[in-house]
Amino acid sequence: MRKLFFLIPLLLFISSCAENVTETAVVQDKKFKWSLVTTWPKNLPGLGMAPERFSRLVQEMSSGQLEIKVYGAGEIVPAMGVFDAVSSGSVQMGHGGAYYWKGKIPAAQFFAGVPFGFTADEINAWVNRGGGLEIWESLYLPFNLLPMPGGNTGTQMFGWFNKEITSLESIKGLKMRIPGIGGEVFKRAGGVPVNIPGGELYTALQTGVIDATEWVGPYNDLAFGFQQIAKYYYFPGWHEPGSMLEFIINLDAWNELPTHLQSIVKTAAKAVNQDLLDEYTAMNNQALRELIDVHNVQLKKLPDDVINEFRVISKSVLDEIAENDNQFKSIYESYLKFKSEVVSYHEISEDAYTKIR
Ligand code: CA
Repeated sequence: MRKLFFLIPLLLFISSCAENVTETAVVQDKKFKWSLVTTWPKNLPGLGMAPERFSRLVQEMSSGQLEIKVYGAGEIVPAMGVFDAVSSGSVQMGHGGAYYWKGKIPAAQFFAGVPFGFTADEINAWVNRGGGLEIWESLYLPFNLLPMPGGNTGTQMFGWFNKEITSLESIKGLKMRIPGIGGEVFKRAGGVPVNIPGGELYTALQTGVIDATEWVGPYNDLAFGFQQIAKYYYFPGWHEPGSMLEFIINLDAWNELPTHLQSIVKTAAKAVNQDLLDEYTAMNNQALRELIDVHNVQLKKLPDDVINEFRVISKSVLDEIAENDNQFKSIYESYLKFKSEVVSYHEISEDAYTKIR
């Protein structure tokens, strides 16, 4: 009898272990089906294909345990509804650009890019290795969202115009699609910025709703057909020197995933983040040649004094937002500290090198 009493706790212990093993096995093997909404037209080259490639990678790496169906802008939610849809949990995931949400979180713009700020390489280093990601995560936490880098366009073009820009006078009253802080700078320089989704730009420019537009760079702009409705293609894209895109994940959905699936999602996102930049680097010049040689687009550089004006205004806009927004200010400080460090080295490395080759 006494022996039996000793056995009971042992048997209970064994049975509870067995239960844990079964429970763990259930979570480990459970299948997940997610929806991913994007701010891009379905299957748009570059931007729109990045989440498709991400979904395929996750599918393959997880042997189908996590299936992610990608929806283009307007299929489930409109482009500018992506943040709210993922935040509320009506879908599990989104792909877009952090500066689209500046109305909710002004500081989010640092994680897409700010005028005269980081290049693609530099923003990757700040986010992945310079403390940026932790700041970004805490910024999105109140919205029940986990952000991850989701690609980069590289340095963009300033955009498409039907009149020449000879001085700041040329942009007075000009209605241009230009998002983020670049839009605010454009406004202070006398222009009229508007932010409309990519899919609506062609019609807006064609019908005169806007006078000018920026989008991305030759590879994406050629696909949209702006060469048919605008004469001049201006560079450089001072307003978007290396725009990072984002994946956002609903935190409840994220927390349900077993660790190995979380690792797969993170790894696939990292792969796509680099892959999209490689795609733009590989494709942009070919598309630019086609725009110039086949479509007779006139490539033009912004006058130096106009660029200088934009630079001065950009700094005052950033300083002013920081003065009125503590969250923005503390991120701006991290950003500036990292920027001064990488820029110092890049001056004597990449910058010096590209001038001599
Ligand atoms: Ca752009």
